[in-house]
Formats: sequence, C-alpha cells, structure tokens
Amino acid sequence: MGKVKKKIKAIKIDLDKCNGCRACEMICSAFHAKPKYSSNNPERSRIRVIRDPLRDVYLPVYAGEYTAAECTGRDKYVIDGKQYDECGFCRASCPSRDLFKEPDSGLPLKCDMCEDDPPQEEPLCVQWCLNDALTYEEREEEVEEEETKGEMETGLESLANKYGLQKIMDTVARMSRKG
Ligand code: SF4
Ligand code: SF4
Repeated sequence: MGKVKKKIKAIKIDLDKCNGCRACEMICSAFHAKPKYSSNNPERSRIRVIRDPLRDVYLPVYAGEYTAAECTGRDKYVIDGKQYDECGFCRASCPSRDLFKEPDSGLPLKCDMCEDDPPQEEPLCVQWCLNDALTYEEREEEVEEEETKGEMETGLESLANKYGLQKIMDTVARMSRKG
C-alpha cells in the first residue's frame, strides 16, 4: 500500500484552564443524541471530565479505541504535585471500567471529531469550552494507506467479545424470524 495525504485533527487540552464545568460533556452527548439535541446525558459523551475539586484535579479525556484486552498493570501520574487517578489519562473503552460505554447497550463510544454533514467549523466541545481549555488544530501528514474500521464493525467486535459470536448469530437469526 502507498502513502496518502491525511488530515490530522487534534484537540489540545490545557489542564490549567479547565474548571470542570462539564459543558463539553453536555454538548457532545446532545450532538450525538438521536434525533440530534433531543437529550443530553454525560454518560453518552465521548469526552469525560475526571473531577476532584478538593485536589484541584480537572482532567478532560477523549474516548479513543475500543479494546477487549485489559492492561495487566495500572498507571498513576503525578504532575506538578497533583496525583491523577489510576488509568486517568487512558482513552480506551475497555472491560475494566464503565467509562466510554453507551449506558443502555454497553457498546463502546469513540470521539468522531463531530464529523458530520455539513461539517462543523470546529468540534462542538471546543466551541462550548468557554475557558479555552480545548483548542482545535488541523494539519496534513503523509501516512501509509491503511484499512480503518467503522463504528459498526467495532461495535460488533465488542459484542462478539462480550457474548461470543455464536450467541450474536443466534440472536440475529431469531430477530430476523420475528421481523
Ligand atoms: S470532538 Fe465532538 S465527538 Fe469528540 S468529544 Fe468533542 S464533541 Fe464529542
Ligand atoms: S467545557 Fe472546558 S472547562 Fe468545562 S469541563 Fe470541558 S474542558 Fe473543562
């Protein structure tokens, strides 16, 4: 496979500017609600803010890839004298915690940079962060061409890991008989 130009979209997070207001969680969950803006629920947000006001810890984290494998160890970070929770900086939707899972279905959530039609000028969480803790950046890079998995494929993979492929196939067969 050859090289292709790819637009890299990044969000810079300035922890010192975040005050834990959670506006980013609200707008993300509302934007991704079906129909759009019909509800909001931080548990459905693809950005979560880990908050501990007594220790002045406010840590916005974006939902990244789903992984079926739990880590065998745990990370703890101490930065400028502040200790962050175990796995605090991790973006994975993984079996060891409830973060970044759709609360009703348990399916993994992943930040999609608010890609939509028509395109947004900036991701919604960046637009709604009035403290400028989130800043959007774009650049172009040459990368190896690769196959990417869609949300549907990732969701099916996570269900198959959780329940087993045979059970999924039996359920689909049962549903199509009823339909
Ligand atoms: S960029 Fe969009 S999808 Fe990603 S966390 Fe922000 S609002 Fe949610
Ligand atoms: S909107 Fe900005 S300041 Fe508020 S919690 Fe999110 S990142 Fe922090």
